[in-house]
Order: sequence, then structure tokens, then C-alpha cells
Amino acid sequence: MTLPPRIAKLDHDDPLAAKRLAFDLPDGVVYLDGNSLGALPRTVHARLADVVATEWGGGLIRGWNQHKWIDLPKTVGDRIAPLIGAPKGTVAVADSTSINVFKAVAAALALNPERRVILSDTGNFPTDLYVAQGLAHALGREHQLKLVDPVDVADAVDETTAVLMLTHVDYRTGRLHDMTALTDKAHAAGAVVVWDLAHSAGALPVDIAGVGAEFAVGCGYKYLNGGPGAPAFIYVRRDVQAKVAPFLTGWMGHAKPFAFDLDYRPARGIHRMTVGTPPVLGLVALDEALKIWRGVDIAEVRAKSMALGDLFVKEVEKRCGGLGVELAGPRRAANRGSQVSFRHPEGYAVVQALIAEGVIGDFRAPDIMRFGFAPLYTRYADVYAAAEAMERVLRQDLWRAPKFRMKSKVT
Ligand SMILES: *Cc1c(COP(=O)(O)O)cnc(C)c1O
Repeated sequence: MTLPPRIAKLDHDDPLAAKRLAFDLPDGVVYLDGNSLGALPRTVHARLADVVATEWGGGLIRGWNQHKWIDLPKTVGDRIAPLIGAPKGTVAVADSTSINVFKAVAAALALNPERRVILSDTGNFPTDLYVAQGLAHALGREHQLKLVDPVDVADAVDETTAVLMLTHVDYRTGRLHDMTALTDKAHAAGAVVVWDLAHSAGALPVDIAGVGAEFAVGCGYKYLNGGPGAPAFIYVRRDVQAKVAPFLTGWMGHAKPFAFDLDYRPARGIHRMTVGTPPVLGLVALDEALKIWRGVDIAEVRAKSMALGDLFVKEVEKRCGGLGVELAGPRRAANRGSQVSFRHPEGYAVVQALIAEGVIGDFRAPDIMRFGFAPLYTRYADVYAAAEAMERVLRQDLWRAPKFRMKSKVT
């Protein structure tokens, strides 16, 4: 395989090209799954090893004060804040995205006590929907989760909507919601808004404060590269923080955790959204990973992300026309996040065959092959190689091997 000079030139001219060196990527692998699990930043090994040996091993319990472990939910939150257009002190890092969805929607419902409907769409990530269903159930039979088609969300917002809960980038197709328009629509109808930025943070510019939504949540392990199971983030608009009555009232969200009062009193500010003891090692890995963003212009990230996606669509369609693949999301780069998806009736097997060829994407039921572009480390050459591999797998029927149909637990 030789790389055409036009592709080599794209990498040569890429202002973000050097950032790839900050990651520890395996040789011989084209990694197009950074939207699901971000790659390993090089300095994370040493930082974790040091924290384990010196802070934990040597400092023992003194680390909570000496090494400010106790402040990590806020200090790491402040590192994420600029990536989502949030001011300092409005983001906490804690728990998983699922749990943060629960905390945000519960708090949002409490801000709108006369209403009973959580509105979302059928393109939302299932855990968000399951959490909302469980919450509605826990609150009694009157609350309900109402689902509409993603294109119908704006029309479905009305004076019964308590909370509009949406994910910015559709995890399957990459379709982008218009955050500003939908937030404005919801606010005009008197609803409170919760955005899930799982596939947005670190992938495209977000101005959550400018958009004006009350709450947002997102993942630490996708484009933020915090590692498997990294803690997630939660944002609460500054002027709303004092009004928020947390549903999960744990001691870390207490005004004075070490007063050991018998009664709960919420902490000031974003801290009240935290619940239990912070996962220090996970927070440290994420903290270190976030240093990569210093000096990165997110507009450049977005521009490269769109160009990578466009190149992939063009190369796959050119090579694989008539081979059963069909673009599954928006064709216009401006309308999608940092991923491109194609449908294929045997998508699972095709993705497994691609992985065997060294191209790692993933599969989302029922038939979506998903390819994510993390502009800090994905090269144009990677995208080109992935399209070539796709053609090989389809043209030579490589995916038909029985071993590629055996489903693993994680797809
Ligand atoms: C990845 C993702 C999640 C994951 O939630 P976890 O609690 O970390 O498992 C939630 N919501 C959306 C929209 C996601 O894309």
C-alpha cells in the first residue's frame, strides 16, 4: 500500500500533527475508536506510578490533604471547563455519566416541580433513557419519560415539559442537535435543560454557558482520554447552583463533610453535586490526560475532525459502492460530530474483520459500523488506510469467516 501524495500532504500540513506524539499508540493499528475509549497519553504511566508509589504508598492517608486529593473533583473539573465553554467552578468530576444523568435530571425536575414530563429522543444513548425511566419510577407513577424522533424534538417541547434531556451528538449516526435552538425553545416553554456532551467534549467546540442550559454531563474516557471507566463530569450553571437540591445527598456534597452532622446540608457551589469519596487514581489519570489540551485550539480540532470525516466518506463511497455499505449519518460535516457511521447488514462481522486487518472501529446494533476520529492523534493516512481495509474486507468477503460472527460481550 502506498500513500498518495495528496494524503501525505494533508498530514504534513496538519497544525495538530505533533499532538499525536503525546500519545502512546500501538504500532500497526489504525485506531478509530477514540470516541469510545480514548488513547493513552504518554505521561499518564509516570504520573500514575508516582501517585501510587509516593502519594499513596508513602503518604498514605496524608495524601488527602498533602496532595489535595480531596479537591480533585473540582480541580479536574476546572480543566474540563474550557473545553465545554464553562467558567471555573461550574464543573465537577465524579461518578459515571449514567449517575450524573440521574443527578442532573433529578435536580432539574426539582427545579420544575409542577411538571411531570422528561422529554428526550429515540436517538439518545440508552443508559440516559434507562436512568430517566428509573428516576421517573422512583418518583412515583406520575412522572414519565416521553420519547420522540430526534427531528421532532423542537415541536414536542410544550408547557408540560419539565426537563428536556438530550445528547448533543447521536452515538450511532453522529447527527448533531442544535444546542442553542433547542435550549432556547425549551426555556421559552418553561422547561429545564440537560445536555449530555459524552461525544462532544474534546471533539468540537461547545459553549455551554453561552447556550444557557442549566445542566450538562459527559464522559472522561472518550475524547478526554481519561482511561477505561474514568470518572465523568457534571456542569451546573452558576446562577442555578444555589437553588439545586441534590437527590443523591452524600457526605462529599455536604457543606461540612468532616463535621459529621446528623443532617444533610448541601455544600456551596458545584461541590453539592458530588456524593461519595472521589476515585483518586481515576481522577489523577484524567487530570494528567487533560494536560494535553493546553494550547490546543478547539476550532482547529473541529476543522480537522470535519476534514477527516469527509475524507472517510469520500474514500469509502468511492471504493465500496455496490458492496452493501450505506452512509448512516449526516453527509454534511457541519451536521455531525467527530464520527462517521455506515450501515451494513452484517456490520458486526465486517467490523471484526476490519479489526483483524488492524483497523479498530466498533459496532452498534442493529447494523451500524462506527468510526470515530480523535483529531489529536488520528492522521489522514489512518483514515485512508481504513477505507482501503474496508474495501478489502468487503471485496474479498473476508468478513464471512465464521469467527467474525461470534459476538463478544462488548461490541
Ligand atoms: C458513552 C455514553 C455514556 C456512558 O455512560 P457510563 O455511565 O460512562 O457508562 C452515557 N451517555 C452517552 C450519551 C454516552 O455516549
